[in-house]
Amino acid sequence: MIPYNEKNESIMGSKQSVVKMPAQVSVLLPLPLKEAFDYIWNERLSPGTLVKVPFGTRKLYGVVWEGKGTYPSKKCKPLLEVFESVRLPEVSLKFIEWVSNYTMTHPGQILKMVLPLPEAFDTKRRAPLNSLNFTPKGILQKPQLSLDQWATAEDIKRSLESETFHTFLLEGVTGSGKTEVYFDAIDHVLSKGEQVLVMLPEIALTAQWLQRFEARFGFHPATWHSDMKKSEKKQILRAILQGQVPVMVGTRSALFLPFSNLKLLIVDEEHDGSYKQEEGVIYNARDMAIVRARLSKATCVLASATPSLETEENTRIGKYRQLHLMDRYGGAHMPEVQLIDLRKYPRAKQTWLSQPLRKALETTMSRGEQAMLFLNRRGYAPLVICQGCGDRLMCPHCSLPLVYHKFHKQLLCHHCGTTGFLPPSCPKCHAEESYCAHGPGIERVYEEVTAFLPEVRCALLSSDHMSDSQAIFEQIKAIQDHKVDILIGTQIMAKGHHFPLLTLVGIVDGDATLSGSDLRASEKAFQLLHQVSGRSGREKRKGQVFIQTHLPEHPVMRALLDQDRREFFSLESEQRLIHGFPPHGRLAALIISGKNREEVEKFARRLARTFPLTQKADLLGPAPAPIPLLRGQYRWRLLLRTTKEVAPQPLLKKWLSQTPPPRFLKLQIDIDPYSFY
Ligand code: ADP
Ligand code: ZN
Repeated sequence: MIPYNEKNESIMGSKQSVVKMPAQVSVLLPLPLKEAFDYIWNERLSPGTLVKVPFGTRKLYGVVWEGKGTYPSKKCKPLLEVFESVRLPEVSLKFIEWVSNYTMTHPGQILKMVLPLPEAFDTKRRAPLNSLNFTPKGILQKPQLSLDQWATAEDIKRSLESETFHTFLLEGVTGSGKTEVYFDAIDHVLSKGEQVLVMLPEIALTAQWLQRFEARFGFHPATWHSDMKKSEKKQILRAILQGQVPVMVGTRSALFLPFSNLKLLIVDEEHDGSYKQEEGVIYNARDMAIVRARLSKATCVLASATPSLETEENTRIGKYRQLHLMDRYGGAHMPEVQLIDLRKYPRAKQTWLSQPLRKALETTMSRGEQAMLFLNRRGYAPLVICQGCGDRLMCPHCSLPLVYHKFHKQLLCHHCGTTGFLPPSCPKCHAEESYCAHGPGIERVYEEVTAFLPEVRCALLSSDHMSDSQAIFEQIKAIQDHKVDILIGTQIMAKGHHFPLLTLVGIVDGDATLSGSDLRASEKAFQLLHQVSGRSGREKRKGQVFIQTHLPEHPVMRALLDQDRREFFSLESEQRLIHGFPPHGRLAALIISGKNREEVEKFARRLARTFPLTQKADLLGPAPAPIPLLRGQYRWRLLLRTTKEVAPQPLLKKWLSQTPPPRFLKLQIDIDPYSFY
């Protein structure tokens, strides 16, 4: 450990009050630094204790990492303050260490996620507490589980009783009653006074989930997501450390909170890409949840209708146990899927809905039911092109086209947030009013629907039209209350929701998700389109799904049509095996970025040259990233591939320590990459 004492002056000199029996402690600070720092205090402190320390001109909160330091105590400064009553559980410290090693980030960065607002515990600064009540008030609506559900829930409960670590894959089509099964397991954990964490991929999903939870358990669980006020977060943090949070539901960041008695972790929609954090500390919360469960001897349940190939493979080799609900609950049928071949049913110019889809919308409306149109494109049009010279309007900071948002009357870069207005004339060919919108976004589909069905009540559902979680909750309520007839939305609406009157789902551009250089493109497309389809006909009324496509023969389309995931996934899996890609091999991506294009390329090439020859791994690249300029930074990528038995971290550590990046370049390590942009 390094002592904290920047000028190496003697801090035990006469000016300092002399501490009689100084004990050394190493303190982890929430900063991207390699090591913990040594300080002294007049007594020994247990690991996990919250302290305040001098650091340069700053005063920082930190956590006692080890009760002993290694540096001569004479050179160490004393702590400023010790918060005896606030201590991170031991398991959180182990988790910090594990995640830090796995993701190859500094432990201080993980500490920041474990204890995001340490000032919440500073008794001097603390605002008065509102009392939080997360205690169960008895079970209100305990449903009778079907035989299938009951058997499944029993398996999970047996694991909970055994108090040993197990991971389950809880698999079942959309609407098969997976949530009710894990509710039953939650019930069991609550009765023993232990803790549960439920992770959902997006905030948008929490509204309906919370309604259901409250109806079932009679209390509101603690929630955690990015759209919460700081004051709320502080309260929750205090409640957690005081052991007052029996159930927490949240997005991926909730996983790191300092639970001390966590016995059940649920990862709902485990296949979902939102569990992967792509910035800062790059991690997959689904995978880290399994580690967290292991450290607590807890049970982890991964729930999905379309499990990821990784999870399927782990189930196949017996690492996870499979639980399977076969049918939709209560005799509800799976929706009938139809492909609309756009070569046979071409759409009129500047329209996006084919005749069969329009007809289905009309019929659904005449029955007084609801419909959903899905298009994973925000805004009005993904491209704006000059009619005169073909110039595309591009983001000045990213190598990406600007997206036209008609409702907000602006151009927007979806990656860096740069905004602009449509130029009156083309700066290249000087043609006047020459820019034209190309391709559809959801706003454009909205315009089309309201023109051809002027009486219907349409709602747009994307992050641009619902600014915060409150707006999302209100919109979802409006749909439930049938104040909306047709919802037009992006993937924000694709998952989890249950709208009994929704009987038609139209997928506007089934092919959009298939393209790209992503090794998981087909898998992701299938998962997304299957999820969207699953919104249809979830109760007694039979549901329909129309997928517009130019590629009706594509394996993804065939699998959706036949509702046959197994066949499709085994083909996918074979392909991956040939290439040694996950789930049969491991990947680690290196992303080099910087302001100077030549320097980025030069370093990427140097890195590749110094890659140590080994049987255990090979290197793909270097190559410019698919988005070669992002937020003003040029980017190159390398991809390390190893067999499943070989962990990439030690290899990377050795290699990168021999070829460290120059200071003016950034090197990001993405273990188990999910995106390849
Ligand atoms: P999934 O999580 O697999 O999508 P859900 O748990 O949401 O499925 O169940 C689908 C619908 O069936 C929900 O409306 C749910 O309330 C209902 N349901 C499921 N199981 C039961 C049960 N045992 N008793 C009553 N209703 C149930
Ligand atoms: Zn941009």
